[in-house]
Amino acid sequence: MPHLLLVDDNADHLFLTRRALRNSGIESTGVQTAEAALDALRGTSYDMILLDHNLPGMKGSELIAKIREMGIETPVVMVTGGGSEELAVDALKAGALDYIVKNEGYLSALPPRIHRAISQHQLDVANRKLEKQRQEAAAQANEHARRLKALQQASLKINSSLQPRDVRTQAVNQAAALLDSEKAAFFLLMEDDLSLRIVASQGLSVSFVDTARVPVGEGAIGIAVLQGEPVPVTDVTTDPRFTRFSDMARMEGYRAALAVPLLMRGDVQGGIAVLDERPREWEQEEIALLQTLAQNVAVAYENAQLYDRLASRVTELQMLNRIVVALTATTDLESALNTAVEYARQLLGAVAGCVTLQDAESRSYRLAGAEGLSEEFRQAIQKFHSLRVEGVSVAPDLRAISERKLQFLGDILAARSMETIWGACGKLGFRSIASVPLIPREEPIGALNLFFKRRRRLDRQEQEILETIGSTIAGALHRALLQENLLREEAERLALMESGRLKTEFISTVSHELRTPLTSIEGYVHLILHGHCGDVSPIQEEFLQTVARNSRRLSNLVDDLLDISRIESGTLSLEREPTDLPAVVKECVEMIRGQAEARKMDIQLHVEPEIPAVMGDFQRLGEVVTNFLSNAIKYGRDGQAVEVGVRLDSEEASPHVVVSVRDHGIGISKEEIPKLFRKFYRVDNSHTRTAGGTGLGLAISKHLVELHGGRIWLDSELGKGSSFSFSVPVVEGDVDAKNNGG
Ligand code: ADP
Repeated sequence: MPHLLLVDDNADHLFLTRRALRNSGIESTGVQTAEAALDALRGTSYDMILLDHNLPGMKGSELIAKIREMGIETPVVMVTGGGSEELAVDALKAGALDYIVKNEGYLSALPPRIHRAISQHQLDVANRKLEKQRQEAAAQANEHARRLKALQQASLKINSSLQPRDVRTQAVNQAAALLDSEKAAFFLLMEDDLSLRIVASQGLSVSFVDTARVPVGEGAIGIAVLQGEPVPVTDVTTDPRFTRFSDMARMEGYRAALAVPLLMRGDVQGGIAVLDERPREWEQEEIALLQTLAQNVAVAYENAQLYDRLASRVTELQMLNRIVVALTATTDLESALNTAVEYARQLLGAVAGCVTLQDAESRSYRLAGAEGLSEEFRQAIQKFHSLRVEGVSVAPDLRAISERKLQFLGDILAARSMETIWGACGKLGFRSIASVPLIPREEPIGALNLFFKRRRRLDRQEQEILETIGSTIAGALHRALLQENLLREEAERLALMESGRLKTEFISTVSHELRTPLTSIEGYVHLILHGHCGDVSPIQEEFLQTVARNSRRLSNLVDDLLDISRIESGTLSLEREPTDLPAVVKECVEMIRGQAEARKMDIQLHVEPEIPAVMGDFQRLGEVVTNFLSNAIKYGRDGQAVEVGVRLDSEEASPHVVVSVRDHGIGISKEEIPKLFRKFYRVDNSHTRTAGGTGLGLAISKHLVELHGGRIWLDSELGKGSSFSFSVPVVEGDVDAKNNGG
């Protein structure tokens, strides 16, 4: 049932109106003065106020103003006495919902008017509420849109930076702006002590930024990083979780904090914190905003790092290229190494560098590319070289060489074995060393060493750079050494040629000098033996025969030596003409038969019929045959036959005449056969020792046969005998001529 407050100074009216209303089911309270009305309104809330315009001491419109001042929105319907329009307008102006003129029938018309007014009012209220809600929603949507736009712009700014440093700065600026805060910080996780440090900030003091170290799991940022979730803090100074940080917060002038983690490469690597000077309840949307911003920052930061790495990779490649150019452009290895070491030093930020080279033969080490090193420095390295622990070298370069892999001493102070020389290193101003082996093929030939001022680490990328420089230097060294070897070999070859030439010259001179006196000895012995100088007693004859034989041997040796020297100087020439090889062989056999008979050897000659002529030097071919025959007798056995054969070999592309001499003597082992044709080579056995000889015969024979365009070879079996052969090509057209009976 609706409940009305009736305000009317006329008690009768009041009574009648209340009765009429009650009859229509409307409850009411009646008061007669404005004060009483205000009092009643203070205690109770009514659905409507029915107000007489004419109250004693106060007009209805004034009372409405008072009621509204009290913040009471209850609708008012004004009751006016006369029919004046002015009054009505006045009432509505004052904020009345409606007005009713007090005329006849007024009491009966009142209840429906009241009902209508109440429902009208309820409708109004509902409408107003709806309108308010609509406006609020619109404002919220606007705010949301504004923030989204701000987020988008912030992300754009962050993403437009290519340097990790710029991304960090943008991130804090944008985070603070986005959340309308004064302060913000970018934290990165330090791997060595798992603490968070500020790497970019806004609105924070330098000392705070420099000293703040937040362990993971502590403080808003530490918890955010540990849990991977945002951590909103309304007031750091009162929150029991952060009592440890409350003094710090007060000093730095912040109360509220919102921290979000930064996820990069699937791992939490740090976080962003926004700090506010006043306590602040963080809205869900604000938290979400900062989270989104953090995601964007993470992506931008990763990209910037990637770009940074790419950029430094380009620098590295340029440096490497310079090293390659330096190493290939000059033939002066030492200066090339100096340049390469200098670039490597710059690339890795070392204070000094050098190359240790191992001498393959002496196994000793020397320094190269050490231009920038002081004498003290060199001595320090030498000290390293002599330092051993349990027999193993601890010098990084020697270890790099022996273990064939990069050695890195991040802190010489920390390595116990180094204590003894730490003083020297400290004085020289380095604390860590990297040595990478130089391995051109399989065997390491040295190491590249870099010395760093501070203790440090070598990340994977730096290791790769070092290894690349190492293999570049190794390649260049290999080429240079190869070149050096080639030059040396060439020089040795030239020297050898020169000494060969001198030897040949010497032999030739000596032989010529021997030739003349020998000829006169032989000549005079001949004259005496033939009685041109008077009678010769038998004993004298015997002695003279010995002189003749030995001078013959001597002059044969001189002939051989002369031939060899001619062969070597390329001056031995043939007088070739169509020659009957069987005739050559027969003549030689006849000449040697005496010697054979002395050893009871029978020389059996087998000459195929129709042997065509060869293009040859009768005299020289005779020398070859004689060499074969005299060897067969020398190395044959007493009483055994020597078989000599001449045949035509027309199997090959061009027909050859083949001469072979077979004996049944001592034979030659397989190992010796390939060596027989070398000059001065003689098989070392009792036979050769007693038989005497120079080891020149076969060498000359081979050469003579080859000058004829022929081939020389032998078959032999140790203890059973040998068969020496040579072949000489037939005069062209001669085979057919002979075969046709021509
Ligand atoms: P020389 O006979 O003056 O030593 P050669 O050049 O004619 O020099 O022969 C070289 C070596 O070959 C001989 O010293 C000998 O050891 C070996 N040789 C040559 N012919 C025969 C052969 N018919 N039987 C066994 N050994 C031979």
